[in-house]
Amino acid sequence: MRLSRYFLPVLKENPAEAKIVSHSYMLRAGMIKQASAGIYSWLPLGLKVLRNIERIVNEEQIRAGHIPVLMPTVQSADLWRESGRFDVFGAEMLRMSDRHGRDMLYGPTNEEQITDIIRSHVNSYKDLPLTLFQIQWKFRDEVRPRFGVMRGREFLMKDGYNFDIDYDAAIHAYNRHMVSYLRTYERMGLKAIPMRADSGPIGGEDTHEFLVLADTGESEVFYDSAILEMNLGDREVNYDSVDECAAIAKEWTTPYARTDETHDDALFNEVPAERRKTSRGIEVGQIFYFGTKYSESMGANVVTDTGERVPVHMGSHGIGVSRLLGAIIEASHDDKGIIWPEGVTPFHCGIINLKQGDDAADAACEAIYQALTDAGLEPLYDDRKERAGGKFASMDLIGLPWRITVGPRGLKNGVVELTSRKTGENLEMTLEEAVAKVIKIYAAL
Ligand code: ATP
Ligand code: MG
Repeated sequence: MRLSRYFLPVLKENPAEAKIVSHSYMLRAGMIKQASAGIYSWLPLGLKVLRNIERIVNEEQIRAGHIPVLMPTVQSADLWRESGRFDVFGAEMLRMSDRHGRDMLYGPTNEEQITDIIRSHVNSYKDLPLTLFQIQWKFRDEVRPRFGVMRGREFLMKDGYNFDIDYDAAIHAYNRHMVSYLRTYERMGLKAIPMRADSGPIGGEDTHEFLVLADTGESEVFYDSAILEMNLGDREVNYDSVDECAAIAKEWTTPYARTDETHDDALFNEVPAERRKTSRGIEVGQIFYFGTKYSESMGANVVTDTGERVPVHMGSHGIGVSRLLGAIIEASHDDKGIIWPEGVTPFHCGIINLKQGDDAADAACEAIYQALTDAGLEPLYDDRKERAGGKFASMDLIGLPWRITVGPRGLKNGVVELTSRKTGENLEMTLEEAVAKVIKIYAAL
């Protein structure tokens, strides 16, 4: 993309309404525009990152054997009356009625809808196990929408639902989700720690939240710092293997890590003092086993191999797709702007032409642009007739991990500059070397 033809409405000033850095940078980098409280339009740069996050979430769910579906955002209240949640949900639920006076709602979540699909089409143990997921907009009329996309009213969520014949099979689905989530967050360059969480009124102890450590997080968290050293990396995982998934889940849930809701001082004190940490965290996902709560109230049964009819065991599993943009920025920025991890960056490499209109500089930039594009990468070329200072400031703000700077003086010596946004390190090398290095970095992802 050439910046002269793009839509990147960068702001120079810090927007007064932004209380945390991610919100401020998202507005300043022209990623989002508030439409009304907690509701945002996604501008081109923001949309690109949102789509990248979505793609990673989708790929990792499919890798785990889960199947994509898409359910409507507007739901009929009838299903929610069946489960008993229509009245329980309270003011967070946006209710409306259609022209016939029928009660409708904008879905805050989809357990009822998915259960309705299952009870219509799944009848036998042979149809299980089954995990369906979607990436779809949700609406929750939050009391205090704030921090930009972090706590929106309309937000994008990946929500997945597993259906299994019994408790053991459902726990395998739970562990499978845990492993797939670990991989998902790692691919985004994030350290998200699974923490034992409160299951609330539903009961049972099988729920974990995934938290990204950040001072601006809304949750108070307690953890053993040993968990920060742990990495799933690119190890091969067989998601069908009950033992393998259970072993990884155990590995990650053994070090102490809990939110304030479930924190236990006595247990925490068993962690060696120097590894005992307290911090704030941003919830970027939650997995949940809730058994037969919905299947019993809504009649989602299957026939077992002995001919008995039993309610299916279920769990639901969510990832805050749009919140992740905020969480990644909170975890990765400096005072000049965002520092995108390579896995989610909106463009792979920035190209800055220090002297637009200089024949040699223009030609070199075009060559870099072409070579990166031919390699399947998306460069962002700042080809505007602007001062170099302004170009650097915008490029730093929008946070592309790599930048190639081209100027007449360097070209005379046969070099361009390759800069890492993260370390600030500048390397002089030939144009071909710079291009090859960037291609190699992304090929390794
Ligand atoms: P919170 O405690 O932050 O209100 P929740 O526990 O109610 O979230 P879940 O039902 O677990 O949310 O939803 C799954 C994921 O969706 C959460 O882990 C979070 O990342 C994201 N999410 C929830 N509410 C919002 C919101 N208002 N804005 C953006 N993302 C959200
Ligand atoms: Mg939650």
